[in-house]
Amino acid sequence: MSLRGQLIDGRAVAQTLRAELQKEIHELRGQGIVPALAVLWVGDDPASGIYFRAKEKLARELGIEFRGEKLDAGISLDSLLDELDELNCDSEIDGIFVEFPLPDHISPEAVRNAIAPEKDVDGITPVNLGKLLIEQEGLIPATPYGVMMLLRASGVELRGANAVMVGRSEVVGKPLALLLLNADATVTLCHSKTRNLREHTLRADVLCVAVGQPRMITADMVQDGAAVIDIGLNWTPGSIVGDVDFERVKERSSLITPVPGGVGPMTATVVMKNTVEATKRRVAIKHVRH
Ligand code: NDP
Repeated sequence: MSLRGQLIDGRAVAQTLRAELQKEIHELRGQGIVPALAVLWVGDDPASGIYFRAKEKLARELGIEFRGEKLDAGISLDSLLDELDELNCDSEIDGIFVEFPLPDHISPEAVRNAIAPEKDVDGITPVNLGKLLIEQEGLIPATPYGVMMLLRASGVELRGANAVMVGRSEVVGKPLALLLLNADATVTLCHSKTRNLREHTLRADVLCVAVGQPRMITADMVQDGAAVIDIGLNWTPGSIVGDVDFERVKERSSLITPVPGGVGPMTATVVMKNTVEATKRRVAIKHVRH
């Protein structure tokens, strides 16, 4: 009988990655190289505060220098762009991460365009997204990259598989669809205008969901034996739930990520991985120039 409802343990996969990073950072520090991450939290969004502090804690645990700045919600776009420019030019900073959402008067596009691509540890700049499209080495968006690591760690065969991505945001859905495509899956990208969503999801060998609606993927929408990756994080009174009706979908799926404890723990860890990656590239470029 095939396996049913086996959990993909994001905490364990993230822990393994953290141990690898810790070792790598220790070696870099031994050579006098200190990876450094700057995180900007603009305004008072409470979820951003949680993510900001989680990155601070993790960076310190791993030995990454953390420079966090909490900026007033009323900051002007110009002042924010000046802050970013300073960080771009600061030779001691390897990675820059801006917490989203931003206050309404700050254009996300302007912020996205202002981060130096080589320091863009969430892979949100046009340069890094473009590199993903043409399969060049760049910095890969953290959450989608974390999902790919979970699929790999769980032994999910992507080549030739039908992968269905529900949600097409720039931070999750679109880049994850590209990563799945680059891994030779046959990819369907669904969104709010998709007709008969269920027809698509039922064909998925690998079903990834990033919508932001509690338990919107029900068991009747899932193919028997599918691997299900739930990226959604929805705060309901007293708990956090995903976009997938976990308890029922678990019975149909072969593998499934829980919420919490699935994709969530990977994201901050991958930001640290990207920071170390950016550090190594900076050092390599310095060596080439000298
Ligand atoms: P967005 O709101 O930016 O995008 C949501 C997407 O879902 C859109 O593409 C939208 O379509 C689509 N959608 C909305 N309703 C439907 C529907 N009924 N059927 C099909 N598609 C629909 O969200 P994000 O991608 O930023 O985040 C999605 C979820 O993932 C959230 O819960 C967020 O908290 C979570 N998240 C979790 C992370 C983690 O580390 N675990 C990291 C980032 C996000 P359209 O484009 O047509 O509007």
